[in-house]
Amino acid sequence: MRWTKSLIATLRDNPGDAEIDSHKLLMRAGLARKTAAGLYSYMPLGMRVLEKIRAIVRDEMDKAGALEISMPILQPAELWRVTGRWDSMGPNMFKLRDRAEHDYALGPTAEETTTDLVKGVVSSYRQLPVTVYQIQWKFRDETRPRFGLMRSKEFLMKDAYSFDADAEGADANYWKMYHAYERVFARCGLKAVPVQADGGDMGDSLTHEFHVLADAGEDGIAFCEGCGAAANLEKAERSPAPAQDAPCPPYSEVATPDAKTIEQVSSFMGLDPSLFVKSLVYAADGKPVMVCVPGDRDVNEVKLRRFLGAGSVALADFGTVLRATGANAGFVGPVAPADGSLRILADSSLKGAAGRITGANKDGFHLKNVDLARDAKIADGDYADLAIAVAGDACPHCGRPITIKRGIEVGQVFKLGTKYSAAFGAVYKNDKLEEKTMIMGCYGIGVSRTLQAVIEQCHDKDGIVWPASVAPYQVAIDLLDPKDEKVSSAAFALEKELEDAGIDCIVDDRDERPGVKFKDADLIGFPVRVVVGAKGLAGGGIEIKRRDEDKSKTRIVPPSEALAAVSAALAGR
Ligand code: ATP
Ligand code: MG
Repeated sequence: MRWTKSLIATLRDNPGDAEIDSHKLLMRAGLARKTAAGLYSYMPLGMRVLEKIRAIVRDEMDKAGALEISMPILQPAELWRVTGRWDSMGPNMFKLRDRAEHDYALGPTAEETTTDLVKGVVSSYRQLPVTVYQIQWKFRDETRPRFGLMRSKEFLMKDAYSFDADAEGADANYWKMYHAYERVFARCGLKAVPVQADGGDMGDSLTHEFHVLADAGEDGIAFCEGCGAAANLEKAERSPAPAQDAPCPPYSEVATPDAKTIEQVSSFMGLDPSLFVKSLVYAADGKPVMVCVPGDRDVNEVKLRRFLGAGSVALADFGTVLRATGANAGFVGPVAPADGSLRILADSSLKGAAGRITGANKDGFHLKNVDLARDAKIADGDYADLAIAVAGDACPHCGRPITIKRGIEVGQVFKLGTKYSAAFGAVYKNDKLEEKTMIMGCYGIGVSRTLQAVIEQCHDKDGIVWPASVAPYQVAIDLLDPKDEKVSSAAFALEKELEDAGIDCIVDDRDERPGVKFKDADLIGFPVRVVVGAKGLAGGGIEIKRRDEDKSKTRIVPPSEALAAVSAALAGR
């Protein structure tokens, strides 16, 4: 391929809305162009990368025995109404209506469509297990589309769905996909780690997210170097030891005018935030509940929702807080709230806590010397692990201190059980001709997000450093003197040689200074750069350099040895 024919437009400056390196480089290297907020067009270079990732995903899915299908992006509302998700997906779903007034969604995912499809095709245990997948554009009206392809409104997702006759089969399928995912990400040149995640609506259901570790990641992940456990912070359990505070005198009021936050009150009183009890009123499925955690901790709303078995939890509105406690947020606490029947939950590390400071349920006041067991009505069973884990917390499995890292979720595997198959009546007949409900799993990979995750993990100050497997071209041939017949024919001869050997390459045949060509090649990040110029050729050679090595490692070889040298350079990538 020739550069002058390939619609490459690199940018000198970072786009104003790009906050993270991979977004900046995606745009500067000319892989994609922004069409509107959260919507991107893939340019030829970006398209090549996307296709290479798609091919790896497809290959691993096929090897895992999954069958490729394609279902409509435009999904009828009736299917979503079967599971109630037409409403529960909320504003995340793009909804539209046809001229006959029928409702549709632009598919954000496809559990409903797939279950309905398979239900119509599978009727006997002899057809099971079966796994189908598609690689297709998905749509989500994200609250904050950002970071380029990482969180966009339209993105390419591989979604697979397994259907099994029994739980053992469903388990086996889950792990088969888990291992296929490990191979997919490794082949894309990514270090992706599987971490335990929250089952969401599925309660305790088994699920792993695959995360690419990067400071720019939106998710926090708890790691234990001791036993290797890894969990999304949403899920990460702690087993905090109960407090063993000394008995304290009866509690008394302290005026804390204008000091509402823990930081404000603790600096006002000159006491460490950990001595405070942070009390928040939540509405769990609309019902108020108070949650107490140590002053230096935050409530983990995912754990809270799971503990309560609630459909939704959110901070209560101002009126609810006032009715439940008698005060405004900032001054509420577990001791004698206005509503004597308000349920109060506390983090396990507060069991046995005494001599603590809490809100007084009276605006402008706090209480000191609170002994939770003595002064607050908290049932024994309402002490639970409700706080977000922080670095240094004991691993619940081995007790060693955990560390926290940031990750980008590139994929997720999920045991669904019978949630969708039961709703759709997706049943099969077993060998005794009894009707049984199919057991499902679903497995997603963000193909377009993976593209950008590779950039996030593989770049340096000069640009992208593509792994050879997904690079737009494996080799860039910088033709330094395009007007020199002899030099160009050497470059084009090498291009042909490489292509015949199955190595894709692009010849930079622009009439530009060498510096411009080198800069662009580094920015786009072709794994191997070959320089063909009049001076070099006169000296008997062409230059070969790997993108991930510095100049000192440049090899100079005669044209006849170029193919072998390039292949050797690529072998290490
Ligand atoms: P997130 O928590 O990041 O919003 P999710 O858990 O809702 O993602 P899934 O439903 O698990 O996403 O979708 C499967 C995969 O699709 C994700 O692992 C992710 O790689 C990708 N993905 C999800 N939402 C987006 C998006 N808005 N833009 C790009 N990729 C996305
Ligand atoms: Mg997910």
